[in-house]
Amino acid sequence: MKVVIVGAGVIGLSTAWALNRLGHEAVVYDQGMIPNPRSASFDQHRMIRLLYPGNPGYARMVLEGFEAWERLWADLGARHFVDSGVLALGGMGGELASDSRDVLNQIGHPYETLDRQEVEALCPYLALPETAWGLLVRPGGPLFADRIVTGLANHLEGRSVALNEERKVVAIDPMAGEIQLEDGGRDSGDAVVICVGAWIGKLLPHYAGGLIAQRQAVCYLEPPARFAAAWRAGPAHDLGAQGAPYLLPPVDGTGLKFGLGPHLRPGDADATREPEPGEAEGLFAKLAPFLKAPEDYRIKEARICFYTTASTPRSDDSFLAERQGRCIVISNCSGHMFKFGAVLGEQLALAATEALEFSAFARWAAGDPQATAA
Ligand SMILES: Cc1cc2nc3c(=O)[nH]c(=O)nc-3n(C[C@H](O)[C@H](O)[C@H](O)COP(=O)(O)OP(=O)(O)OC[C@H]3O[C@@H](n4cnc5c(N)ncnc54)[C@H](O)[C@@H]3O)c2cc1C
Repeated sequence: MKVVIVGAGVIGLSTAWALNRLGHEAVVYDQGMIPNPRSASFDQHRMIRLLYPGNPGYARMVLEGFEAWERLWADLGARHFVDSGVLALGGMGGELASDSRDVLNQIGHPYETLDRQEVEALCPYLALPETAWGLLVRPGGPLFADRIVTGLANHLEGRSVALNEERKVVAIDPMAGEIQLEDGGRDSGDAVVICVGAWIGKLLPHYAGGLIAQRQAVCYLEPPARFAAAWRAGPAHDLGAQGAPYLLPPVDGTGLKFGLGPHLRPGDADATREPEPGEAEGLFAKLAPFLKAPEDYRIKEARICFYTTASTPRSDDSFLAERQGRCIVISNCSGHMFKFGAVLGEQLALAATEALEFSAFARWAAGDPQATAA
């Protein structure tokens, strides 16, 4: 079968990879370069973690995700992941660690509970309150996002998969399975997969009310020399308090990075990617209370990126999968879809070629705890 894929982020490229493995024809279109540095999938790292408080469906799906990444590493001939472990801090005024532990118990996945001294020994750079404890979970840590999408694009080119750069899709006829391009071209397939990240409301305006493009930021830091080795050897972090930062360790040539889930606001994914004056410093001020000697850190760079979240009435983080005619839309990527890139690609490839019933795919993608990957 021939499947047209609109959007060459991690989801589009992984879907093309999975279709190619199954012997189907994939044709990919992106409005920008492939990979596109403006896509949500292009940054040094994205975190993969089993911390899903109150959400056993997605926690189990992360395990399926790891299996799919292994299949991808085998095809790429490179493992773009370091199992640094992920440490959630408890006793910080939030429920993340204890609620995540409940879910790990539910799905029967092992973890370590660290007391304050053990957290201090592992992470000597953190300023810890007396109440602190840690939930250390493996596997987990940084997926090297830009290397993954670059590796995927190279792999697909080597397999003669058509990657059409700088070719913006402007209209879709879902019943005919046809796309129309800004340059006047057209293409069609047995199925069309639409995975355009934060641009969904622009391509398909009827989604614009329910799915919001959100502006986010991440910040790269240079730690003080005395903590550099500990940061390199340390885990990825969720600092546990309400609205607290997450951090990714500077491993394998990448930088020390942090971000803040609540630092987001609706925006235009085509707008400038320049951080606002003082924005990085403002973000760092939220991290500083968690660090020893915060004054010795240097902010190297802030990066602006966009993803999509649901607005009311769908004010949740579950992925949206909808089918109309020959067309499948996958969206609400929000701040947690990258980790599922390979497994979502595999399942989308099955759904698009009707080897998997669409309703079963949609339930699984929405994190239904009863659903498993095909
Ligand atoms: C700051 C930040 C931190 C995050 N942290 C994590 C994390 O730690 N863990 C995690 O799992 N996830 C994380 N995410 C989420 C994750 O990065 C995204 O969910 C994921 O990358 C989305 O992939 P995608 O392929 O759907 O979209 P994108 O990567 O955005 O790709 C969409 C592509 O579609 C193309 N496109 C758009 N419109 C058109 C059109 N009309 N015609 C042709 N092409 C078009 C775009 O050019 C783009 O290349 C984070 C996201 C951000 C922004």
